Amino acid sequence: MELPGRLVLLGHPVAHSLSPRFQNAALAAAGIPLRYEAIDVAPNALDSQLAQLRTQRAAGNATVPHKARVAAACDTLTPLAERAGAVNTFWMNGDELIGDNTDVGGFSAAVTQLLGAAPQRITVGIIGAGGAAAAVLTAVESWSGCRAFVYNRTLARADALCALFRPVARQIDDTAAMTEAQLVVNATSIGLHDDAFPLDIGLLGAGAAVLDLVYRAGETAWVRAARASGHPALDGLPMLIEQGALAFERWFGREPDRDVMWRAVG
Ligand code: NAP
Repeated sequence: MELPGRLVLLGHPVAHSLSPRFQNAALAAAGIPLRYEAIDVAPNALDSQLAQLRTQRAAGNATVPHKARVAAACDTLTPLAERAGAVNTFWMNGDELIGDNTDVGGFSAAVTQLLGAAPQRITVGIIGAGGAAAAVLTAVESWSGCRAFVYNRTLARADALCALFRPVARQIDDTAAMTEAQLVVNATSIGLHDDAFPLDIGLLGAGAAVLDLVYRAGETAWVRAARASGHPALDGLPMLIEQGALAFERWFGREPDRDVMWRAVG
């Protein structure tokens, strides 16, 4: 398999990302002579950056706020990227830019870790209706017999997202319905910079599991509070590592050493 000319992460802002740490550790462990570079790309510079990366035969990841626009710029999308309407992983095949979405697989792996088994016949409560919520819904509709409630600050955005994921997704305009969910997912950026909660712990059903897509050093306040109240809970780090491991497989056709990745962020 031909190595990419460059390996990059495109985001804005991007300095806080842990991806360079664990991807560079995995590259070194695999003896692959590439560095994974985070590039802060303002939205108005994305098109020219992508044009340059094509000529450099680059591969990489896209993060907030570029996932939808990178999807639109790709020549070919995998079915998951097409369904999620977002690309977080891309590479060149000949002259074609290929886009995939490994957030979907990363999320499913984190849920399986949290529940101790692959999810089946559960109701998932999702807070948020952006790109991450679309990846979550793409995973939920692939699970056997599962459905989702979606609550978002901007109700119209939740409505539009649920229309794309009928009949699995239903928009709710009152968070009280979240008590019916066996798994509650924070797919907003609430809690990223402070200790705000996306949902009151009292609105979680008995025994409901909690997955916060946000990750912070020492976990988020919401995850800590949920666990203290007896709920199984995980933050966004397992999903982040797994989406990165799946991306590594797409770029290099081989699995990274996940233990090395975990140690790099430990
Ligand atoms: P996005 O497309 O920009 O959507 C942001 C979402 O957060 C929207 O639903 C927005 O609601 C909501 N939101 C933001 N601030 C809010 C506030 N103060 N109160 C209520 N709602 C608020 O972003 P995204 O790509 O979906 O990412 C969402 C989060 O998931 C980010 O924190 C990102 O880091 C995380 N994420 C983690 C992973 C991982 O691997 N762990 C992967 C992907 C994403 P409105 O529609 O009302 O604005």
